[in-house]
Amino acid sequence: MIDLRSDTVTRPCPEMRRVMADAPVGDDVYGEDPTVNRLEEMAAAMAGMESALFLPSGTQSNLAALLAHCQRGEEYIVGQQAHTYKYEGGGAAVLGSIQPQPLEFEADGTLDLVKVGQAIKADDYHFAKTRLLALENTIRGMVLPMDYLHRVSAFVKQHGLKLHLDGARVCNAAVALKLPVSDITGLFDSVSICLSKGLGAPAGSVLCGTRDFVAAARRWRKVLGGGMRQAGILAAAGIFALENNIRRLRADHENASLLAQGLNSCPGLRVQNGGAQTNMVFLEVSGEQESAFVGFAAEHGILLSVGRPMRLVTHKDVEREDMMRVIEVLQAFRFPQ
Ligand SMILES: *Cc1c(COP(=O)(O)O)cnc(C)c1O
Repeated sequence: MIDLRSDTVTRPCPEMRRVMADAPVGDDVYGEDPTVNRLEEMAAAMAGMESALFLPSGTQSNLAALLAHCQRGEEYIVGQQAHTYKYEGGGAAVLGSIQPQPLEFEADGTLDLVKVGQAIKADDYHFAKTRLLALENTIRGMVLPMDYLHRVSAFVKQHGLKLHLDGARVCNAAVALKLPVSDITGLFDSVSICLSKGLGAPAGSVLCGTRDFVAAARRWRKVLGGGMRQAGILAAAGIFALENNIRRLRADHENASLLAQGLNSCPGLRVQNGGAQTNMVFLEVSGEQESAFVGFAAEHGILLSVGRPMRLVTHKDVEREDMMRVIEVLQAFRFPQ
């Protein structure tokens, strides 16, 4: 099967499994797992931050960050379609009594700073206290422009807010910009990075920030049930991912471009923005044929998720030749006349 549903479907390669099996471990809740400690040092260095924390998932990592930044009765400003607002079960409200203040994203995935400024609450006991701005990069596969991030960084300082990045795919952004990850993440107070998406680890995220912030997040991780014991077996996969699977993201982006080009010339199909966004292609299928289209693809060994538009995601377990095959198959789909 050629699985383009998400980059979360990547499987650990044999070498990754080997380093996992060989990893020295200890009890990480005691701070004694040398492999977890090494991953956390590597992640902090990569992000240009003082400290880092290994967590089982990106959802828990973002939640621990929100809990560490915001107290009960405080709020974070976030995009309406952001993962930290829409796709995490309302965790900040459920478990932290933290109020989200969602705003519509602009077409390029930025939040308009004029609108953000208008959403910041005055110091008045009618209102929640605005504490944090949360961004996502990449966002729907799009890379946030660096000049925008510099403006955001100055903006939050001026308004006394903290700035969090859901950087689940920030390595894709860095590779696309040909910049070190720290050029992006260094502009934020905290960043959460997924090891289990395009980087190919079976589980895990790292949350980076100041020493004090990470100490607070570490406390929340335990509260959330995320304190793991001999977690070095998972952390070893994360180390392998950081060492071997970042540079190769370029190939995923090239494959997505190839796919976008091929599909855009098929009758009945339209690629949004005419091309790929890092490792994602957003595909419009005419005539409300999405389900039939996905069924047809599955019969030919290609897994897609239904959506409007449909999101096709490239990753390390699909090759250039697979893209050719996908284009060939999808081209053959017959729309009802
Ligand atoms: C996947 C994802 C997360 C959450 O990661 P999980 O490990 O699936 O919990 C957070 N933010 C974004 C943008 C993601 O794509």
